Amino acid sequence: MDLLDTLTDKGLRRELPTREEALAVLATTDDDLLDVVAAAGRVRRQWFGRRVKLNYLVNLKSGLCPEDCSYCSQRLGSKAEILKYTWLKPDQAAEAAAAGVAGGAKRVCLVASGRGPTDRDIDRVADTIAAIKGADEQVEVCACLGLLSDNQAERLKAAGADAYNHNLNTSESTYGDITTTHTYADRVDTVTKAHGAGLSACSGLIAGMGESDEDLVDVVFALRELDPDSVPVNFLIPFEGTPLAEEWNLTPQRCLRILAMVRFVCPDIEVRIAGGREVHLRSMQPLGLHIANSIFLGDYLTSEGQAGQADLDMIKDAGFEVEGAEQTTLPRHRAAATGGGCGSVCGGESAEAGCGSGSGCGGHEEPTACGPCGGHAPEQAPDDAAPAVSAAAEASQVSQVSQVSDDEARTDLVRVRRRGAGTELAPNA
Ligand code: SF4
Repeated sequence: MDLLDTLTDKGLRRELPTREEALAVLATTDDDLLDVVAAAGRVRRQWFGRRVKLNYLVNLKSGLCPEDCSYCSQRLGSKAEILKYTWLKPDQAAEAAAAGVAGGAKRVCLVASGRGPTDRDIDRVADTIAAIKGADEQVEVCACLGLLSDNQAERLKAAGADAYNHNLNTSESTYGDITTTHTYADRVDTVTKAHGAGLSACSGLIAGMGESDEDLVDVVFALRELDPDSVPVNFLIPFEGTPLAEEWNLTPQRCLRILAMVRFVCPDIEVRIAGGREVHLRSMQPLGLHIANSIFLGDYLTSEGQAGQADLDMIKDAGFEVEGAEQTTLPRHRAAATGGGCGSVCGGESAEAGCGSGSGCGGHEEPTACGPCGGHAPEQAPDDAAPAVSAAAEASQVSQVSQVSDDEARTDLVRVRRRGAGTELAPNA
């Protein structure tokens, strides 16, 4: 297929495809699907070998957000029966992070709901970073706290954060349909601030919110322009109790095409399969590994992922390997650009020639990480209140119910997280 040959050649040269080529990937048929995966896979292997970077989410503060991101179970007015708690203490967060690291994660993503952090919140996160790095200095830490004010990125960098996540989520032209309490420009500004402070920028998207192919291409080209080190691709989990609860628009095939388009546009950037992996890719998850070089281990912010051991088994069975702490994620040319910190490489130009380095979190969106969070949720609980959920809550775990189509809507796969951070139950890692 001429299109795929062209895209592969461009990806191997780190050349930007045209918008028409990116749109054509999304328009390919199921007959061409394996060829699309194979072509994107060649680009993936050129820059990242067969390594899979594991990231682990720690939800520092859950729910009760004053923002109105339609996709998010933590939004203002959300009826989703998620865990709600205020800030974890540093030792609680470090304990949660340690479970992910023990499971194979090399990056911990510290996420807090809200519009953006206060200066006191930055202090709390700094203490948490110190606790995590005090236990294991090799752990990469990405913060995802919402919209940043002046100097907050610099303070996080000084505290030892390696990266900052803030997703663009969708195209500029449709952003106002998804969220009204902040703007697309606000998000771009925060990613720019993170970049400017020397943090490895992580910024991605959410697919499946009713957007057009043009919207998807717009946001991915906008991300490429921002030049993050990592791009998390979330697939909307239509949470019961949110405005997008009926938006079951994705198929495994569609998800693979979206991942391939992102890989062709961002050939040497860490592409992470984020929230919605299990719900939408389902048994096709291993094919996703041929395109993306990064996933989250275990659970998401407010929903369950598959068992951490199932993630590890899948990686091994598919012929990939978990990226170690001693390996860098990004190819050498990108690592050099980031100063060799989080996300650099030590080996050859391509990942296959040497190592790679990596970085990049997921952001604040519920599917995986949070959206524009960070900030000012009306604080209902005292700062030092220890979040806790009884074991009895586990028994009442909620399955979402919004079946739209027997063929496509797998509402049975959406399960609210009631273990790990903020509970008394062991995490899934
Ligand atoms: S994505 Fe972040 S800012 Fe938006 S509602 Fe959810 S927690 Fe709040």
